[in-house]
Amino acid sequence: MKNIAHIGVGSNLGDKIKNCKEAINEVSRFEGNLIKESSSFYRTEPWGKEDQDWFINCVIKLESPLSAYRLLKLLQDIEIRFKRKRGDRWSSRTIDLDILFFNDEIVNTKYLQIPHPLIKERRFVMIPLNEVSPKLIHPLFNKSIKELLDETGDEKEVIKIDDEGKKWFFCV
Ligand code: ADP
Ligand code: MG
Repeated sequence: MKNIAHIGVGSNLGDKIKNCKEAINEVSRFEGNLIKESSSFYRTEPWGKEDQDWFINCVIKLESPLSAYRLLKLLQDIEIRFKRKRGDRWSSRTIDLDILFFNDEIVNTKYLQIPHPLIKERRFVMIPLNEVSPKLIHPLFNKSIKELLDETGDEKEVIKIDDEGKKWFFCV
C-alpha cells in the first residue's frame, strides 16, 4: 500500500538549509520512500515563541509504504540523529519534521494527531504546502489549502528565498 504524506520540515539552528536538505535525504533513503515534490525554501518569522532566530521551512510530498505511526518513528529517529534537544515548546531546533497530512486520514491520539492541529494557524506551513498541493482538501474542514491560506489570521512573515528546494532533490 502506498501512502501519500505531506511533511513539514523546519530548522532554526546551525546551517538551516543544509539541515533541511540532509533530513529530506534521510527520509528519501528509507526503502520504498519516494519524494514526489518539494517546495521552495522559505525564511520564516518564529511563530509562538518569538525570542529566537528565524526559521527555514519547506514542505515535501512523500510516497511511502510506511503507516503513519511508522513514519512518525522514522522522522523522530532522524530528529534524534540531528541531535535535536527537546526544549520548550516551539523552541529552537536543528530539525523539526512534522506529519501534516497522511492520505486523508484523521488520527487523534496522544502521540499523533493528523492532520497536524495547527496547519491553518501557520502561514509558514500553508505557504509552502500551497506551492506543492494547493487543491489538497483538509479532511476536518473540507476546505482546500488555498482556501485555508486565504482565510488565515496569521500575519507572520514568510519569505520565499529561492526555488532551490524544488529542484535539488532530483539531483541527489
Ligand atoms: P512541535 O513540532 O510542535 O514544535 P515536537 O516536534 O517537539 O513539537 O513534537 C512533540 C510531539 O508531537 C512528538 O513527540 C509527537 O509525538 C507529537 N505529534 C503529534 N502529532 C504529530 C504529527 N502529526 N507530526 C509530528 N509529531 C506529532
Ligand atoms: Mg515536531
